[in-house]
Amino acid sequence: MNDFSPKEGIRERIHWLIKLRWIAAAGVSLTVFFSSKILKFSLPFFPLYTTIIFLAAYNLVFSLSLSLIRGKASLRLMNRIANAQISLDLLSLTALIHFSGGVENPFIFYFIFHMIIAGILLSRRASFLQATLAALLFLAMAVSEYSGILAHHGLGRFIGQDRYNNFIYLSGVSFVFISTIYIAVYMAASISQKLREREKILADTNTLLKKQDRLKSEYVLRVSHDIKEHLAAIQGCLEPVAGGITGELNPKQLDLVQRAVHRTAKLMFFVKALLEITRIKLSKELKMDSVSFKDVLSESIAQILSKAKDKNISITSNLEHSVDRIRAAKEYIQETMINLLANSVKYTPRNGKIDINVSDKGNSILIQIEDTGIGIPEAELPRIFEEFYRASNAKKAEKDGTGLGLSIARQIVEMHGGRIWVESEEGRGSAFSIELPK
Ligand code: ADP
Repeated sequence: MNDFSPKEGIRERIHWLIKLRWIAAAGVSLTVFFSSKILKFSLPFFPLYTTIIFLAAYNLVFSLSLSLIRGKASLRLMNRIANAQISLDLLSLTALIHFSGGVENPFIFYFIFHMIIAGILLSRRASFLQATLAALLFLAMAVSEYSGILAHHGLGRFIGQDRYNNFIYLSGVSFVFISTIYIAVYMAASISQKLREREKILADTNTLLKKQDRLKSEYVLRVSHDIKEHLAAIQGCLEPVAGGITGELNPKQLDLVQRAVHRTAKLMFFVKALLEITRIKLSKELKMDSVSFKDVLSESIAQILSKAKDKNISITSNLEHSVDRIRAAKEYIQETMINLLANSVKYTPRNGKIDINVSDKGNSILIQIEDTGIGIPEAELPRIFEEFYRASNAKKAEKDGTGLGLSIARQIVEMHGGRIWVESEEGRGSAFSIELPK
């Protein structure tokens, strides 16, 4: 979820308004063109097109200024820009309507769109001020045309008669128009205020959750660190006993001590993985360097080679020529590769195959590790990167496992700005892919 920032919110909405205005400018141009060429209205097309050019010109100015002041503008300035845009829009719409029938033009109801936009974009007070500006512009146009201060440009046969100087019609339209825009602005402002409040609550809750998650991780880090220290001490005591340094053990004693050694080693492995994932979670960013991926790959393969040989699993690797150096935290990326390769060895029965392919995708590299192992049941695929999750078939095939490896891998890949995913078929094999930006 994005961090909540009112400035960011209004900036996004102003950009949206600029996009909308380009569409409006194109739409109005087409309507004017259609009115002159198809409907054959005799309207003052020069001022109409001039208004459209004015609309496009200030949209361009806003668009350029926003890209110039990118991120530097204060919330106050953003609000001013939004206000200025809406006021200019109201002015342009009034001009367009005045030159194309005035109060007789059904497009007067397009003012409602501007009121909705004001209600969404601006504060309640500012949107009511914009509604008042719209009402004043509308009344000024209607009264000026009625009293002859401004010329009336009728729509001819479209309306049939000159309603602009019919006082009753004028009063009725003005009443409906003004009440509609105030109601529209009230509704839009109320809904958008509620949404903004909710957005803020969600953002606050999100911040709180992140804080609590951090606290939890700090706690886990401390506890697992302590456990690791004690375990290391236990291992230090057990190993000499199992090795016979403290004296010969009878078979029963040896069996018990060896079991204790084995269990301690497993526990140590688990605690180390837990420490690792917690450390990664707590570190905000990784220290990146220029790293040769070729070296990462060969060192990772070297780490799992003997276990693969024990199971007679063949490993082939193919690294595209152009794949060279990437920006990465070497130990972390190497650990991810070892994790995935070790999984492939672990979950592939004897005489299987592992294929590694690394290809150049321009700005990124794509690493694919395919094996002929036990695969992952389809229903369990979405959960495979979750912490502590182990698929049902994996638990049967291999007792040892923490369910933390893939989740560590995902964290590392995401901290590098990449992504990781898997395709798999139970009983046939799995293909893990990682895309890493160079
Ligand atoms: P584990 O310690 O259980 O291997 P991981 O986090 O590394 O934990 O993997 C999570 C689960 O993903 C595994 O328990 C297994 O179900 C599945 N998995 C991972 N890699 C493979 C693979 N190459 N083939 C089949 N299943 C896999």
